[in-house]
Amino acid sequence: MVFLKMADVILLVTCSIREKAEQTIWNRLRQLKALKTKRPRSRVPLRIGILGCMAERLKGEILNREKMVDLLAGPDAYRDLPRLLAVVESGQQAANVLLSLDETYADIMPVQTSPSATSAFVSIMRGCDNMCSYCIVPFTRGRERSRPVASILDEVRKLSEQGVKEVTLLGQNVNSFRDNSEVQFNNAVSTNLSRGFTTNYKTKQGGLRFSHLLDQVSRIDPEMRIRFTSPHPKDFPDEVLQLIQERHNICKQIHLPAQSGSNRVLDAMRRGYSREAYVALVHHIRDCIPGVSLSSDFITGFCGETEDDHLQTVSLLREVQYNTGFLFAYSMRQKTRAYHRLKDDVPEEVKLRRLEELITVFREEASKANETSVGHTQLVLVEGFSKRSSTDLCGRNDANLKVVFPDAEVEDVTNSGQKVRAQPGDYVLVKITSASSQTLKGHVLCRTTMKDSSVYCLT
Ligand code: SAH
Ligand code: SF4
Repeated sequence: MVFLKMADVILLVTCSIREKAEQTIWNRLRQLKALKTKRPRSRVPLRIGILGCMAERLKGEILNREKMVDLLAGPDAYRDLPRLLAVVESGQQAANVLLSLDETYADIMPVQTSPSATSAFVSIMRGCDNMCSYCIVPFTRGRERSRPVASILDEVRKLSEQGVKEVTLLGQNVNSFRDNSEVQFNNAVSTNLSRGFTTNYKTKQGGLRFSHLLDQVSRIDPEMRIRFTSPHPKDFPDEVLQLIQERHNICKQIHLPAQSGSNRVLDAMRRGYSREAYVALVHHIRDCIPGVSLSSDFITGFCGETEDDHLQTVSLLREVQYNTGFLFAYSMRQKTRAYHRLKDDVPEEVKLRRLEELITVFREEASKANETSVGHTQLVLVEGFSKRSSTDLCGRNDANLKVVFPDAEVEDVTNSGQKVRAQPGDYVLVKITSASSQTLKGHVLCRTTMKDSSVYCLT
């Protein structure tokens, strides 16, 4: 709040994926309105801007509804911010919500606001062409486009030089990545599609694919962990799976959003796969990458979802036994195919009851899956002190699960066994002693490097 009071311009980055996300922004706007009206006349007026998906979805409606909003910029209009702010300075409202076919912000290097941060996100693509029937993303983020490989590698190199130890490649469909900007590959394999998967759009041809990008990114710094999210289950060719299996610094962790366990619902969602194709992919991934950690997204109460459909989702959760899950109650979004053609007919309390049931089942299964780590030694990237105790450190293992352990003096195996205390950004080996659905606990054995640790780690 202190910083808010000092600011002359406040820009809110917004999300429209569910109604709840938008509600949070309306509430925040009410607080800012109070701040704006209370501002002494001796200071320059406070300017408020809305950036991102809500600006794109609601356009002028926000300016009409909230007179105190000065500026709107959609997800592809950030370069225009200086001009928009100049218009605002002259006392008018300003808006740019044009979507672009090629904007990837490739030449804009984000500033790391926390210089001691151990991890960073790197955007590799924008937009989405999938048109799942429930989803607003294709309408707020526009068409799918990939950032040139060279500019991604440049950013990762800079992050490595700054000491960042973990990079997550970010996009709506990261594994559909195709950089057509420079080289035209006459690639014999013309599709990324996994077996049993289809798309709602014409698959693009040629270009540099996700496996190439992942290969190149993982070669930059052998001590840097590489993750990616969110992939779509349709684009998991064997080259990608092999690379994850082979490369020691690509985390053995795959997010595989299923959304539902019922074929009827998957069809209505236009996800382009059946439950059987999805489960076959899970088995194939587990065969290719032993010990891989899997996570997923699920939606409860989608249009027409019956109790039997819901039970099929429960059974998919039991069958796959995910390590992590993101579960949501369906939220009808305007413009989507479901909004125009289907009925949001599952009552809110039923959606929420089903959500609770999925959360319970997911926790039970994740606890069982995480229990298998007990007794094993794992490589953990230290993030800092645990939020709950200043005598415990906390970090993440390869599966991205939180690991908590007492802060103790340990041997540094990379520095002739000198005694040290682990710092944020260090890799340590931790012997796991207990597990829950979301956290592992253990005790620290030594400070090490990622390369050296492969000798000791059993998982
Ligand atoms: N591109 C990613 C998803 C990004 S949105 C993918 O396909 O995996 C993240 C998650 O939000 C989705 O996986 C879905 O589970 C959820 N979601 C999207 N639209 C939703 C809606 N209308 N209601 C509830 N959840 C939704
Ligand atoms: Fe939305 Fe589907 Fe695209 Fe994910 S893949 S962003 S759920 S339309």
